Amino acid sequence: MGADGSRKNSTRPREQRRPAGYAGVRRILHCDMDCFYAAVHMRDDASLAGRPVVVGGDPAGRGVVAAASYEARHFGIHSAMPAAEAQRRCPEAVFIRPNFALYRRESERIFSIYREVTPLVETLSLDEAYLDVTEHLGRFGSATAVAAAIRRRVLETTRLTVSIGVGPSKLVAKIASDQNKPDGLTVVPPGKVQEFLDPLPVRRLYGVGPATTTALSELGVTTVMDLRALTLDRLLGRFGSHGRTLHAFARGIDDRPVRPHRPRKSLGAEETYRHDLRSLAEVDEQLELLAGEVSAGLRRRGLAATTVTLKVRYADFNTVTRSQSVPLAIWRAEELLRCARTLCERTEAGRRPLRLLGITASNLYPSALKQLDLFDPD
Ligand SMILES: [Mg+2]
Repeated sequence: MGADGSRKNSTRPREQRRPAGYAGVRRILHCDMDCFYAAVHMRDDASLAGRPVVVGGDPAGRGVVAAASYEARHFGIHSAMPAAEAQRRCPEAVFIRPNFALYRRESERIFSIYREVTPLVETLSLDEAYLDVTEHLGRFGSATAVAAAIRRRVLETTRLTVSIGVGPSKLVAKIASDQNKPDGLTVVPPGKVQEFLDPLPVRRLYGVGPATTTALSELGVTTVMDLRALTLDRLLGRFGSHGRTLHAFARGIDDRPVRPHRPRKSLGAEETYRHDLRSLAEVDEQLELLAGEVSAGLRRRGLAATTVTLKVRYADFNTVTRSQSVPLAIWRAEELLRCARTLCERTEAGRRPLRLLGITASNLYPSALKQLDLFDPD
């Protein structure tokens, strides 16, 4: 890589630039827990060993599958499938309701192992992360040894297995982690990237969904090697600017940095009113606006919350807060509003004039769990 003019190193933030001597080669790990939710339950309940386990909604309702053990996957059960269909496919499957507090606790233990290795940890979901270890090989000396050590530590600490892919980019690391699942370690050295990618079906490339796969197959493209045979002009003509990405990915070129971000602790909106709010109807109208604002913020950041806090400041500047936690993370305006209304009943709103109202969402979960409500639409 590097010969292609499409690389834009100058746009990379300073801290992401590497010192001379690394020749631009990064060492990136993609760590992906194996069947995470199901694995946690199977670890904690020996009677589940070797059985098809399905974590998700009630098969008698309209809920969907959140995760399936490998045993369940043999029956064709996969996540996002209706739980009722999963039961039809495998009547002896054990159905378990998700316990996100438990998964989050495990996730925190696992991520703290990652962060002992490098501060450059990018969270993709509760059980998936990118680690940039280029400058954090430490006493291990190689990314492969770092990955092996992480796998050992995770197993010792949690009795759960993590599959890791090692490569010079996010693109390659992510594909690699999936290559030898479960409990696998796949290392793609920088010089072997093309050899690794070429035989893969194009849909394995990041950003190649069903529509692109179909469009590519119409061009006679099945594998990454086929894709590499198409010129940049041809790809730009067919896919617009996405064609440039396809052209780069087919060559294993992917400069996306690993972006560690501090998880946001809370997200809120509040408003001070020029005229005090006196009636409950006025208060309710404002709560609706605030809930909409918080919901939009959560949606934008791909977050959902399990705690909602209402802040009320009376005309005399006395301020009270009321909080409520919900079992399933929420982000929709109507759900936030419902909580805020309940909390409002625990204040003197409507009986005392108010000068300020605020709604804050906290205990935030990452976006991968946004489908939470799919598990229990009822
Ligand atoms: Mg996983």
